[in-house]
Amino acid sequence: MADVESSPVAQGFEVLSDETRLAILRALADHLSGEPGSPAVGFADLRRRVGVRDSGNFSYHLEQLEGQFVTKTSDGYRLAPAGFEVVAAMVTGSYNGEAQLGSLELSEACPHCGDILRATYEEGILRVACGEGHEFRNVIPPAVVADRSLEGIIDCWTAKTRRDLLFAIDGHCPFCYARLELSIEPDAHVDTKEVETRCDRCGAGFEIPIIVAAARDPRVGAFYFEYGIDITARPLWDPVRYEPVDITRREDPVRFEVAIQLEGDRLVAILNESLAVVEVRR
Ligand SMILES: [Zn+2]
Ligand SMILES: [Zn+2]
Repeated sequence: MADVESSPVAQGFEVLSDETRLAILRALADHLSGEPGSPAVGFADLRRRVGVRDSGNFSYHLEQLEGQFVTKTSDGYRLAPAGFEVVAAMVTGSYNGEAQLGSLELSEACPHCGDILRATYEEGILRVACGEGHEFRNVIPPAVVADRSLEGIIDCWTAKTRRDLLFAIDGHCPFCYARLELSIEPDAHVDTKEVETRCDRCGAGFEIPIIVAAARDPRVGAFYFEYGIDITARPLWDPVRYEPVDITRREDPVRFEVAIQLEGDRLVAILNESLAVVEVRR
């Protein structure tokens, strides 16, 4: 078993378990947003910004961050990429426990049953669901819920979910970057609407709608676009992803045949067992 105490991750968390060090990272980020042209801050200026009087004490904390979270240059100190990630996590998670949404009704109806869709937010997960149990969900940071209108939250959620799904379809876990196995065995039970997979490394689960995998192909996206529909920007519950779409599964080899009927026009996309589009017919 790996020694958790001495792992780089544990060491990283240990380095960050101090208010002064977190304040240093915030001060460097604040400086950068104010003066993007000169990202580095000199020692004395940085100490003044953080508000630590004891120079030796401040120097000690700064040294702990150097290398991993802060880079020392000839002009002073600036955030390293891992430092940016820490600041982003602090900023997006800082409303923890206060982000409330209640149960808000969406203007769109459930694409599966026509029932009212409602959005709720709990434990970092935004759920859009109808009373019949049809559900769309993904994690989103509390800060998004705290500082946006419902429309703004849904826009951000839709963009993030699109990005996460495309990442997963391409075979990467959007949370921990592990390789995701997306290979459907013949005869394995798979819904013809979506494919489920799970990351072996971080445990995150994904339900990938087959129409999302099909629509990422530029030929399929262009077909929708000919009818004035930017399919990539539509929320997952948009009826245009369901009503005109008919998905059939074939075995040996596994293939999903996605037929899309828009007005008098028809496009058929064939997806393989890894959800890659292998053929498009008009
Ligand atoms: Zn429903
Ligand atoms: Zn993962």
